[in-house]
Amino acid sequence: MTDAVVQDTGVEGADQPAALTDGIHLVVDALKLNGVETIYGVVGIPITDLARLAQASGIRYIGFRHESDAGHAAAAAGFLTQKPGICLTVSAPGFLNGLVALANATTNCFPMVQISGSSERHLVDLQRGDYEEMDQLAAAKPFVKAAYRVHRAEDIGRGLARAIRTAISGRPGGVYLDIPAAVLGEVLDAEKGAASLWRLVDPAPRQLPQPEAVDRAIELLAGAERPLLVLGKGAAYAQADDLIREFVESTGIPYLPMSMAKGLLPDDHPQSASTARSLALRRADVVMLVGARLNWLLGHGDAPQWNPDAKFVQVDIAATEMDSNQPIAAPLVGDVGSVMEALVERSKPGRITAPAPWREELTARSAQNVAKMSGRLKAAATAHPMKFLGALQAIRDVLQENPGAYVVNEGANALDLARNTIGMQVPRHRLDSGTWGVMGIGMGYAIAAAVETGGPVVAIEGDSAFGFSGMEIETVCRYNLPIVTVVLNNSGVYRGDDASPSDDPAPTALKARHDLMIKAFGGAGYQATTPDEVATTLREALAAGGPALIDCVIDPTDGTESGNIAHLNPKGISVPR
Ligand code: ADP
Repeated sequence: MTDAVVQDTGVEGADQPAALTDGIHLVVDALKLNGVETIYGVVGIPITDLARLAQASGIRYIGFRHESDAGHAAAAAGFLTQKPGICLTVSAPGFLNGLVALANATTNCFPMVQISGSSERHLVDLQRGDYEEMDQLAAAKPFVKAAYRVHRAEDIGRGLARAIRTAISGRPGGVYLDIPAAVLGEVLDAEKGAASLWRLVDPAPRQLPQPEAVDRAIELLAGAERPLLVLGKGAAYAQADDLIREFVESTGIPYLPMSMAKGLLPDDHPQSASTARSLALRRADVVMLVGARLNWLLGHGDAPQWNPDAKFVQVDIAATEMDSNQPIAAPLVGDVGSVMEALVERSKPGRITAPAPWREELTARSAQNVAKMSGRLKAAATAHPMKFLGALQAIRDVLQENPGAYVVNEGANALDLARNTIGMQVPRHRLDSGTWGVMGIGMGYAIAAAVETGGPVVAIEGDSAFGFSGMEIETVCRYNLPIVTVVLNNSGVYRGDDASPSDDPAPTALKARHDLMIKAFGGAGYQATTPDEVATTLREALAAGGPALIDCVIDPTDGTESGNIAHLNPKGISVPR
């Protein structure tokens, strides 16, 4: 804990000056008491002293250039550590910038707490025009799991306890904690202040499934002719890797990893159905979703992408997720670890076994698809100017030599193609655009991965996606983080060859030498025009272990508008290109 501020109260007759504390000290003390080691933020009125004090008390403070990026970092830290990532923002505009990331964390089920300073209620509520006036609590509410405000310094401990527990218990999500400047500055008796703080007991309790629900699921899986598992990022978050592996391998059921569940089992596992995905979805008769939602990313479970007669088993900590898109024949409400343990315990060995013909059918289709793809990969490897797939194969080869590297990935084509080209070997080593398909998470996620794990990070970025958080390359350099950013630069959003119908550049056009940018901040910048150069520079940058950026010059004609999700564009009357 920090030392209480000792001041002479000047009270007549008092033998000793009473020890005093204030709101800022109490916030820092409460965070430390609850094991917070890192704060991500942007300082300014009224939270600068809070960041200073946190740092002086041994909490690591990582200062960003924009609150969205700090927020994305906190969210990724939450996903990686199962502890709420903490983001600190200033009032009104800074708060709103951070709110984007808090909403994204909530959507992705990542635990995060945004703590923001705010201006005085008596001014805000009468709209008297205060500095950065805004009713932040009301603004946050629609976008978060919960929002709380502290009105008295003596409630700071309670407010943080509520925020932390809410963020990580049940379905994790984003929580907003509003602390007005006057509360941060409120002085109170240090003993009373210390007594108002507490450490949470079992903040994310296990949630065990009902035995009859487990038996129902076993029954369904045991009777399946073509069972399939879908592992989602909730399964990755749960850190139940050994149990998941035991269930998968003891049943022989083929599985599909969603993008952030890649690596839960190594991507080259013989039961991975990734390379026969379409067939697996179209034919599976019993599908068990493990920490994965039947949302747009899974076509809502609808035909023709899915077998219309498929029956679903769903493992999720949120009971309300059941039936959100399809009828769930066997809901398994509980945390992934407890549910997998119960499934293993309650199914006798051999009770659930994936029939061999189904496994063979998928293996045969995988072989066909891999053979088909290999021609495309070979052509891309030698194409000049360089194609996405040329650069990505080079990155893949270097990452195979470095399986412990964290991969951050965003973009349109850069995301679609990297996801399929780059295999993951280790759980929770891939962070990407996630449920919203959002751009701008790149540098925030990369910084959190480096800060929280100390491991090397390779951020594979589309040039457009990188732009949203590109200024954080300075943060990467300032903290000397082991992050290599690889920008797949085809000079545009989607592609760089759109002709403009006016004197201005086309709406999709972009133009940048990102390698020069990082040099301005003291990092290593490379330009690569061939797959060989990509591999050589990436190897060199990873070996150096510091901040680096490789600008990969990609053919501007390579790239599909909107990547794999072009069908989501409205189809009206054709627009000039
Ligand atoms: P993906 O995009 O990979 O399919 P989603 O984010 O859609 O994954 O789904 C994750 C699901 O996992 C959410 O419905 C969430 O409630 C659930 N979840 C998160 N943590 C746990 C946990 N520890 N145990 C069980 N379910 C969890």
